[in-house]
Amino acid sequence: MCMINSINAQIWKLKAIQKCDVMVYTKIFLKFPYKFWPIGPGKEFFIYAHEQRGYYTFWQQMENAYPGSNILVVTLTNGESKRVEAQSDENTLREAMEVLRDIFGSNIPDAIDILVPRWWNDRFQRGSYSNYPIISNPQVVRDMKAPVGRVFFTGEHTSERFNGYVHGGYLAGIDSSKELLEEMRKDDRENESKTLLLEPMLALTECKIPGQLYLRGKLGMAEAKL
Ligand SMILES: Cc1cc2nc3c(=O)[nH]c(=O)nc-3n(C[C@H](O)[C@H](O)[C@H](O)COP(=O)(O)OP(=O)(O)OC[C@H]3O[C@@H](n4cnc5c(N)ncnc54)[C@H](O)[C@@H]3O)c2cc1C
Repeated sequence: MCMINSINAQIWKLKAIQKCDVMVYTKIFLKFPYKFWPIGPGKEFFIYAHEQRGYYTFWQQMENAYPGSNILVVTLTNGESKRVEAQSDENTLREAMEVLRDIFGSNIPDAIDILVPRWWNDRFQRGSYSNYPIISNPQVVRDMKAPVGRVFFTGEHTSERFNGYVHGGYLAGIDSSKELLEEMRKDDRENESKTLLLEPMLALTECKIPGQLYLRGKLGMAEAKL
């Protein structure tokens, strides 16, 4: 009976995992000997249109964040990310330079360095963030988050409200650690004895976690209460 329950538990968990897609989001960094792009107020991004959807579309110059770095960043997503991950950095550099020469003309210098992150092929990542279907049952996220026996799950993909984002990961981590401690306290009460592990773990939770995280502002998002 116990074994059947455990198999059932794994099936609902596996079903939830299968329903959640993982997107790839790639920022490719190109360093140049000097700037050939416009800088100044209102000139941080430029967009390239190509018949192949998402082909080196979104460009950003890093002058505002890192003055003098002479770095451009191009963002690719999903299909284009996977295509670029599968090819050599030299090919990616060649494609990106063709696009830039299309925009700025043939006299621009070659990039002297390139960084191509490979989130899809990194075995500890396998993508950049979770992406639930648009019409998704909230129960799916709850099942993603729910523990299976003594194994707890956390991370941005378990945040019902902010999945896909850093603050989703942050809030989910706080929630899960509270649930884990509650489970340990329950164990402690049930066993009517002090476990050797619980006290040192509780001591670690003495650090001050902000009671509220303010997410209001330009995006008009409501405040997340912890
Ligand atoms: C290029 C890019 C841009 C992004 N931009 C934004 C943005 O602008 N704003 C935003 O809010 N979010 C952004 N995100 C998403 C954001 O980074 C994630 O939502 C967030 O990092 C998730 O945090 P997490 O703690 O849930 O998971 P992660 O940060 O992925 O942490 C999980 C950790 O577990 C480790 N791990 C995995 N498997 C194992 C294993 N078997 N053993 C041990 N360790 C393991 C991994 O190495 C990793 O360190 C971006 C992501 C990417 C890739």
